[in-house]
Amino acid sequence: MQLIKLYKCVLLWKRETTLIFSLFLFSLTINAQEIDILLKGGHLIDPKNNIDAKMDVAILNGKIFRVAINIPESSAKKVLDVSGLIVAPGLINIHTHVFAGSNPGFSDGQSSQLPDAFALRSGITTVVDAGTTGWRTFPEFKSKVIDPSITRVLAWINIFETGFSSGSGFEPDMGTVSVQKTSEAVQKYKDYIVGTRVGHYTGKSWIPFERASEAAKISNTPLFVECHMPQYTLQEQLDHMRPGDIITHAFENVSERMTVVDEQGKVRPFVLEAQKRGVLFDVGHGGVGFWFNQAIPAFNQGLWPNSFGTDEHRTSMNSGMKNMLNLMSKYMNIGMSVPEIIARGSWNAAKSIKREDLGNLSEGSVADIAVLSIVNGKFGFVDSGQNRIEGNRKFEAELTVRAGRIVWDLNGLAASTYKK
Ligand SMILES: [Zn+2]
Repeated sequence: MQLIKLYKCVLLWKRETTLIFSLFLFSLTINAQEIDILLKGGHLIDPKNNIDAKMDVAILNGKIFRVAINIPESSAKKVLDVSGLIVAPGLINIHTHVFAGSNPGFSDGQSSQLPDAFALRSGITTVVDAGTTGWRTFPEFKSKVIDPSITRVLAWINIFETGFSSGSGFEPDMGTVSVQKTSEAVQKYKDYIVGTRVGHYTGKSWIPFERASEAAKISNTPLFVECHMPQYTLQEQLDHMRPGDIITHAFENVSERMTVVDEQGKVRPFVLEAQKRGVLFDVGHGGVGFWFNQAIPAFNQGLWPNSFGTDEHRTSMNSGMKNMLNLMSKYMNIGMSVPEIIARGSWNAAKSIKREDLGNLSEGSVADIAVLSIVNGKFGFVDSGQNRIEGNRKFEAELTVRAGRIVWDLNGLAASTYKK
């Protein structure tokens, strides 16, 4: 009996010693590596890795070096106290218009916005331009906007060769609507182009829709459908979409398009069926694309958005939409939980654009991080029809890290204290 006790004791001692030795080795490794930035004491929400807990995050050489419960401060060059804050993957806005320039309109135009002017300050590290360019204009967009931006800029390429440069009533020459040229562009710029886009087209022909879908299929990417095509019914559009394709302006309520919720307040069955078979619903708030009388009944009946694309442009950012965090705050006050919101703003969005290297905080991933606060108070939220709801909580972006670099710091968490 005594012998057994002694044996157990030795075993226990051996286990403890191994554990202590491993911890010692771990701390030596960290000290040897020297962390660039340590985010200490935050509440980590990383949907890909099912983490919703207090964890530290260490950043080294632009990447997530380690995620653990307690990483020693002594191992870091810079320690930021993020206690009381949410540490999330950098947000991804899959519906923006960012080919800004001096022309009227969106293409190289004044209605678009430069990504760094709105994204970083909202915790967004990746934006996807929604077809502002086609295969003919994409190279210019790349050199003028994508290459010089701090924000990672990706794109849906328009099936129309010059992109979204045409106003309403636009009728393309069908000879220029090219599956081949579009899919070649996707292939050539595969690090930037995530899929094809059709929308803002009022002609009767299904050719643009079908060719955009075909180009997406050939390049194994999703199709992004930006409504405003009153000639096609909503059901027809959804029926033409494959699993993984994305419809935006999901909760729009305008006369030229059938709404997702019927006159009795019920989500139309074919809409729920489309979501069930894998069609993704992006908010695409924009200037006219988000209405509480659609979004709230839809939310209550299980039609939740897959992503929080804002349809960012000069008008939407100065009206009810404001920014992606404001849209996420609307859903927080409607009743969506914070982890569900973060998932849609990061990991779900990354999956929908087939960029699973993004939207997560796995060790080894690029260090794109959003540190968010939830502010309590009395707030108003406005939809595209000038309808208002009240809420008592909203998100704010405290700190944004892009590839390991601090690019937004609302309250100077990373700054030195000024001494008088
Ligand atoms: Zn748009």
